[in-house]
Amino acid sequence: MVFLGWLLFIDSTSAKLHAIPFGAGGQDRVGETVLQNTVGNRLRVILAQPRGFCAGVVRAIDIVELALQKYGPPIYVRHEIVHNRHVVDSLIAKGAHFVEELSEVPDGAITIFSAHGVPRAVVDEARDRGLPTLDATCPLVSKVHNQGRHYIARGRTLILIGHAGHPEVEGTLGQIDGPTYLVQNEGEIAALPLAADTPIAYVTQTTLSVDDTTALIEALKRRFSDVVGPETRDICYATQNRQSAVRDLARVADLILVVGAKNSSNSNRLREIAEESGVPGYLVADGSQVNPAWLEGVRVVGLTAGASAPEVLVEDVIGALRQIAPVEVSTLDGIEENVRFRLPLDLEENANARANRAARGSR
Ligand code: SF4
Repeated sequence: MVFLGWLLFIDSTSAKLHAIPFGAGGQDRVGETVLQNTVGNRLRVILAQPRGFCAGVVRAIDIVELALQKYGPPIYVRHEIVHNRHVVDSLIAKGAHFVEELSEVPDGAITIFSAHGVPRAVVDEARDRGLPTLDATCPLVSKVHNQGRHYIARGRTLILIGHAGHPEVEGTLGQIDGPTYLVQNEGEIAALPLAADTPIAYVTQTTLSVDDTTALIEALKRRFSDVVGPETRDICYATQNRQSAVRDLARVADLILVVGAKNSSNSNRLREIAEESGVPGYLVADGSQVNPAWLEGVRVVGLTAGASAPEVLVEDVIGALRQIAPVEVSTLDGIEENVRFRLPLDLEENANARANRAARGSR
């Protein structure tokens, strides 16, 4: 066969790029050859859709920014407003102070509760001190608090499926008066000091793995005879959408990078899902954490971001990849999210004014 060139195609099953040499007059069709990642020295970067900020995070950041505009700095925020250092640092630069305890807040200072929610004792302490507060708890976390109270009021023992020590879990435990147990795995469900016929209800942390949580709910149903729970799991829409997008990404990527903070629950779950899907996954805070050694033999990098990671950090990671090889970026088809949560009433006016100013500015 006289070699004339390469026929390139993408195998829709493996999504791998293949090359078949083609020529004229030959009988000896040469077998296909999988190209190395260095084909044309290009690295394909495929972005997950959706990725990054969810509606609860947008609302929480808006609350801090609008409060800074309306009341002026300093504004105090209990705990990181969302688990992302870049976001926190940008708000610090605008005059926000982040504290872990209300005792660190001066008398009379505007105080904001983070998106993860707070125990009722914290709300009570702020009220007793007369602190003016704004609540940035995500409405989907508040919904879990309400569900828990609802089940307790009906005489059920509540099981919260979640991770010990996470601020959302501490907030939920502290919002519900009544018998409540936190479980993290099947062993803890087996060890619950409750009779098998105890009327049980469950609620879950919003950012868990959908598959792990389904398994734990099944374990609860095997352990107890009378179990009820929310019709849909409490894992929020944003967590579910980002997890299914990462599964889609794993079908076409050789490596998955998740932009997110180490203490971000939903970002950690995305990395775990990549690994469970058979693709190496790494959590990176920004481009500076990309290790070139990860890219050895890699042609397609899947890139996603946790719900608290801004798009600017995704761009930073793409920039870091460009330092290693020429990069071609595309986005995988996925769900378009149009969720928006209302702001506290006294800030809604400022938000509208800000939106109007932006609209005027763009004309
Ligand atoms: Fe709300 Fe879900 Fe975002 Fe958490 S991840 S802030 S529960 S929308």
